Amino acid sequence: MPEPFEPGFLLDWVRDLGSSETLYDFHVHPFDVLTGDSNYLPSQASLGLYSKSSSTYHPPSLGTGLESSGNRLSAGANSLSAFLLASRITYTHTGAKVITDHLDLAGLAKALLLPVARTPGIAENMLDASDQMFQDDRLLHGCAFPVGKSPDDILEFLRSAQEKRKIFAVKLHLNLVGLNPLDDKSRELIEATLVAAGSLNLIVVVHGGRTPSIEPVDSRENGILPRLVRINWSLSSSPVILAHAGCYGLTEEEAISNLPILNDLFDKYHNLMADTSNLESNALKHVLEKVDRNRLIFGSDALYIPIWKAWLRFVNVLRQVSSKPEDDLVRIASLNPRRCLDSIRMANPFLLTPSNT
Ligand SMILES: [Zn+2]
Repeated sequence: MPEPFEPGFLLDWVRDLGSSETLYDFHVHPFDVLTGDSNYLPSQASLGLYSKSSSTYHPPSLGTGLESSGNRLSAGANSLSAFLLASRITYTHTGAKVITDHLDLAGLAKALLLPVARTPGIAENMLDASDQMFQDDRLLHGCAFPVGKSPDDILEFLRSAQEKRKIFAVKLHLNLVGLNPLDDKSRELIEATLVAAGSLNLIVVVHGGRTPSIEPVDSRENGILPRLVRINWSLSSSPVILAHAGCYGLTEEEAISNLPILNDLFDKYHNLMADTSNLESNALKHVLEKVDRNRLIFGSDALYIPIWKAWLRFVNVLRQVSSKPEDDLVRIASLNPRRCLDSIRMANPFLLTPSNT
C-alpha cells in the first residue's frame, strides 16, 4: 500500500476532489520567460503540440520525489549561460497539448497562462502566438506587460489586446523587465499598469521575490517584498496576485522574515492575493501556516517545474499543516481563483461563456 506522502497516494486523494470541484493552476508560462521566444512549428505528430526541434515529445509522467530536482531553473542557477540553456531546453515543446497533458496528469481542470516579454514588440507577438498555439477551453490567457510603452500607452495596449483576444490577466515580472519599485520612472509604469488593469478589469500577476543569475545584477531583486511595499496596489480595484507569495529565490530564513511584510500588505490592500508557485516545501509550509488561506491561490510555475510535482508538493505540505486539508485545498485551488475570475467576469460579460466558468 502506498505511503501517505507518495505521489500515487496524494494523486488519488486529490483526483477525488477534482471530480466535484474545478481545480486551477493559476501560474503557467506558455513560453520561456528568459528568451520570450514564441516561434514554434506545429508538430505533425499531435494537434496542439508545437516544437523547436525534431526531438520527440514525451508527455509528463509521475516521478517519485516532490523536492527540487524538478525545478530546472534552480538547477542552472549558478551561471547565466546555464540558466538560459536550462530555460530554453524546458521549452523545446509547448502548446495546448503540452499544458493539458500536464493538467491531466495532476488531475487539474484549468490553467492561467502568463507570458513574459523582455523586449519591445514581444508582448504583441506572444498574443498572436498564444491565440494559435493554446486554443483550448481549459486554458485562460494572460498578456505580457508591454515593455517599452509609455505609461500613457499601456491602457491603449491592454484595451486593444482585450478587444482582440479574450485575456484575463496581465503578467508583470519586475526582475525580468527591469522595473524597480524604488525608482520613480519604474513606479510610474507599474502604477499605470494597475490603473489600466483596474479600468479594464484584468487580473495583474506580479513576480514576487528574487531571480538569481539574471543580468543586470541590479534587477534581480526588484520583486522582493521590501520593494513591493512602495507600490500603491489599490490603484487597481481588480485582483492583484503576488506570485510565489513574494518568496521566490529566498532562503528559508529570508522567507520567514518576509512573510510579515506580505501580511501587512494584505491588511492594507483588500485586492491583493498571493500564489504558492514554485516554493520549496519548507517555504511553502511557512506560507500555509502564516498567511490567511483566503488570500492564497495555487500555482505551479510550469513548465519550469512539472505541474504534478508543484501540485503534489503543495498537497503534501497542506496535509501536514491544515486541520481541514480538503476544505483548504478547495479554497486555495478552486474557490479563491474562481473569486478572482468572477470579479473580473462580472465587469467583462464577453468572458461569460459556459466553457470558461
Ligand atoms: Zn513564474
